Amino acid sequence: MSRIVMKFGGTSVANLDRIRAVAKRIKRETDAGNQVAVVVSAMAGTTDQLIRWVEEASPLHDAREYDAVVSSGEQVTAGLLALVLQNMGISARSWLGWQVPFRTNTVHGSARIEDIDTTRMIERLEDDIVCVMAGFQGISGDNRITTLGRGGSDTSAVALAAALNADRCDIYTDVEGVYTADPRIVSAARKLDKITYEEMLEMASLGAKVLQTRSVIMAMNHGVRVQVLSSFTDKAGTLVVDEDEIVEKQVVSGIAYAKEEAKITLVGVENTPGIAGEIFGPLAKGNINVDMIIQNISEDGKQTDLTFTVPENDVDKAAAILKATGHVKYAKLMSDRDVVKISVIGVGMRSHAGVAARMFETLAAKGINIQVISTSEIKISVLIRAEYYELAVRALHTTFGLDTDQE
Ligand code: ADP
Ligand code: ASP
Ligand code: MG
Repeated sequence: MSRIVMKFGGTSVANLDRIRAVAKRIKRETDAGNQVAVVVSAMAGTTDQLIRWVEEASPLHDAREYDAVVSSGEQVTAGLLALVLQNMGISARSWLGWQVPFRTNTVHGSARIEDIDTTRMIERLEDDIVCVMAGFQGISGDNRITTLGRGGSDTSAVALAAALNADRCDIYTDVEGVYTADPRIVSAARKLDKITYEEMLEMASLGAKVLQTRSVIMAMNHGVRVQVLSSFTDKAGTLVVDEDEIVEKQVVSGIAYAKEEAKITLVGVENTPGIAGEIFGPLAKGNINVDMIIQNISEDGKQTDLTFTVPENDVDKAAAILKATGHVKYAKLMSDRDVVKISVIGVGMRSHAGVAARMFETLAAKGINIQVISTSEIKISVLIRAEYYELAVRALHTTFGLDTDQE
């Protein structure tokens, strides 16, 4: 007998037929004698709709009320799935975040989980009751509903698996696992049987939304055995594992893209010591995540142009912060939302030189201009014009030998 967590994403619970199909999958696990905790997302499209309503009602909204509204989609699916399971003769009940409780901090819209008390849920699991939990939500210390950021049900599931000391955390989604690139963009993308936590973390944080970044960090820190698989087929999925479990290491194991990026350029910044701190300090205080940075100092050394990227949604806020910090002198602030970040990822890069050169040559051969570059031990990212992103991802996929027919 095992204790498992099964998570179903939006497309997997998009309507009652899909919810019935999910219930059948759960039944297979309970029939096998397993204790099952389930985490559900809102039905596909629901969270987007809820966010649109909030924005329409109040463009500069109170984040606590945003959470009250956008968390509601998961409540519906949790209740419906519990009902469907009951109709199949399976004991089941729904749990909202606060009922577990799933305690978080007060950062509404992207709250962090602080503590999960699973005492009561474990009692129910031991009574063979399927516990269906609403993903994406928690409760803050001041008793308000919080949400964990877009895609946060993955994190709910991994956190619950860690807290329950579950044997497995199965993330059911609308593709058959983690691929070498988004299979919706690259038809030649290949499903990976295994991927390391580290590569998965890079893939997720660089745009592959198949798992929320925080869920991978959580899995890594708690040693949760995560498997990504399809709720539509019965094929084997992808296991996220430690590096030593991978026998044949690829130099590059995946290509990712992130569209929600924007570029800010400060032209003619006075080049004095400490200027970078004066620019990036206030942005950090404003909770703005600066990613890629380049600086070009003028020939006489008196001025510098500074280009960096921020999440697209934060461009206006970042510009407002920079304008408000009176002591940073610059000639012009330019922003550009028409950019996409493309990354190649692989633990094999640690021991192989030349990946960057091949990446740049590939893009050059397609006539794609690179605007900003950033690297780490196991990834190289470039910023390019948005219109070329599919071309770039496909070309790189081929260059690094990842296409299915290149096996
Ligand atoms: P869910 O609603 O199940 O959480 P998501 O839409 O959040 O599903 O994540 C699954 C999607 O992630 C897939 O439909 C796919 O388009 C996208 N995706 C992006 N990159 C990858 C990748 N490398 N491997 C698999 N899926 C990817
Ligand atoms: N429903 C939430 C979202 O769309 C959480 C999730 O699906 O993981 O972001
Ligand atoms: Mg998701």
